[in-house]
Amino acid sequence: MIVYLNGDFMPVEQAKISPMDRGFLFGDGIYELIPSHSGRFVGFNLHLDRMNNGLDAIGIVRPDISVRQWLEISQQLLERNEGTDLGIYLHITRGDEGRRYHAFPEKVTPTVFAMTTPIFPFLGEPDSETQPGLSCYTAQDKRWKRCNVKSTALLGNVLHFQDSYSRGGNECILYNADNELTEGSASNVVIVNDNQIITPPLDEQILPGITRHLMIESLRKEGGFGVSERVIHMDEVRGADEVWVTNSGVHILPVVTLDGRPVADGKVGPVWEKARACYNRHCFDLNV
Ligand code: PMP
Repeated sequence: MIVYLNGDFMPVEQAKISPMDRGFLFGDGIYELIPSHSGRFVGFNLHLDRMNNGLDAIGIVRPDISVRQWLEISQQLLERNEGTDLGIYLHITRGDEGRRYHAFPEKVTPTVFAMTTPIFPFLGEPDSETQPGLSCYTAQDKRWKRCNVKSTALLGNVLHFQDSYSRGGNECILYNADNELTEGSASNVVIVNDNQIITPPLDEQILPGITRHLMIESLRKEGGFGVSERVIHMDEVRGADEVWVTNSGVHILPVVTLDGRPVADGKVGPVWEKARACYNRHCFDLNV
C-alpha cells in the first residue's frame, strides 16, 4: 500500500512516525474519511471543511495544503492503490516536540498522514428484499463532551463498538443520561416513524456527519419526504418503524435488530429503500 506522509508518497512500510508524536502519545489529532467510488468522491469539500473546523477547535495550525492540493494527494492515492470503493483517510496530529508534555508546543509542525482504506461497495439500486440489515446493541454514551470534534482519540468509541461487536453486533447505538439518542460509535442514527425521517439535532453530543448532511440535503432536494432534526427519546427508537445508521464507509444502512429484538417486523423497511435511492442519486453532486 502506498501512503502519504508529510509531503511524500511511500510504501506503508517506509512511513515512520516518531513515538514522541503527540498523535501517538495523546491521540492529539483530527481525522477524516472521504469516500470514493470508481474515482468519484462524495462530499470532498465538506469533509475538508469539517477537518479544518476540527483543527481550529483544538488549536492545531492548519497545514499549508490547499483544497486543490488535498484533492491531488487524494487522487494520487487512488491511482497508486487498488480498489474501486476506497475511502481516503486523512490524519493530522499536533506533531512531535521531542518530549511528552501536555501543554501545546510553541513551535511544532503538524504531522500529515493519508492513506486509502476499503469501504462498503456503493449500492446501485437499493433493494429492501435483498439488503441484509444490521444488528445493533445500545449503551449509555460514555464518551467525552465534545463529540462534534472528529478527534483521533477514539478510545470511548472503540470500547462502545467492541461491546456491541463482542455480542455479534455491527454497531453500538448510544444514548445520553436523559435516555435520548445521541449517535452510533462510528455513525449517525436516523429513525422512521409514521413515514417521518427523524435524526437528532447537531450539538456537542454528536459528530456532524457528512452522510447525515448529504442525506438530509438530497431528501429535501427531491421533496416528498418528511425530514426533521429533533431530540429523540430511546423509547421512540425502540418503537420505531425503521432505524438506520449513516457514515461515509457505508452511506446509509438499515438496522433490523436492537439489543436482540427486531425493529418493527425485523425486515428492512420501504422508507430506507426510497431514501437510499434518493441519496444515491444526489450524493456525488451535492457540495463536492
Ligand atoms: N459519528 C461518529 C462517532 C463517527 O465516527 C462517524 C464516522 N466518522 C459518523 C458519526 C458519521 O460521519 P460521516 O457521515 O461524516 O462519516
